[in-house]
Amino acid sequence: MARPLYKRVLVKISGEALMGEAGFGLDPKVVDRISADIVSLRSQNVEVALVVGGGNIFRGVQVAASGIDRATGDYMGMLATVMNALALGASIERQGATCRVMSALEMPAICETFSRQAALRHFERGHVMIFSAGTGNPFFTTDTAAALRAAEMGCEVLLKATNVDGVYTADPKLDKTAKRYDKLSFDEALARDLKVMDAAAFALARENRIPVIVFSIHEPGSIQAAVMGTGRGTLVGA
Ligand code: UDP
Repeated sequence: MARPLYKRVLVKISGEALMGEAGFGLDPKVVDRISADIVSLRSQNVEVALVVGGGNIFRGVQVAASGIDRATGDYMGMLATVMNALALGASIERQGATCRVMSALEMPAICETFSRQAALRHFERGHVMIFSAGTGNPFFTTDTAAALRAAEMGCEVLLKATNVDGVYTADPKLDKTAKRYDKLSFDEALARDLKVMDAAAFALARENRIPVIVFSIHEPGSIQAAVMGTGRGTLVGA
């Protein structure tokens, strides 16, 4: 049987991945399926941190298009990530692993405020960690939060679970001849202007030499497969 290639991983789950077919909000079946994958990784002693997006509820840029200022829209987006984190955390616990949700913005009635020291202790005690509210700052994304938390928590890899099964030579939705890369270096991705993550997230991962695996969240068991090195996706590394 395949064994985990990493001991401590950070999984970035986009908000869109959680909405299933509905087009908005959360699909409980999808949340449970993703959580089951996480719980199964925990049972193989992999330490798992999650950063979850909020695009299934609010995105700052979209909110701003309706006339609300961008920073306020971004705070709404960060609050959306907290809701997603609570749903994922509840599902993970229901399925038998222990989990702690932290928020980069203080909301002590709901969850702990992010602290690196406390998060490391939770890791030692075997809890799955969910980091919500992104970086706590407007004008950033949860991809950047994922690279940041991966670096400060000492994660060996950033697993970017998304809608596509890797990084392509062109947008596969627009160009039928687009080819998927199995492996790429950060420098190649930069030189070819390939969209792995936004620029701030990419720079953080590159500087801290944290490899990024881009893969599809829609395949059941894909998070586990990425950790085992048996899945389909693109590995972007040094
Ligand atoms: N956001 C922010 N600062 C952060 C992380 C997120 O302002 O550090 C806001 C931003 O408005 C973003 C929204 O939260 O659009 C949801 O996050 P994101 O778009 O990254 O979610 P995803 O695309 O992964 O669902």
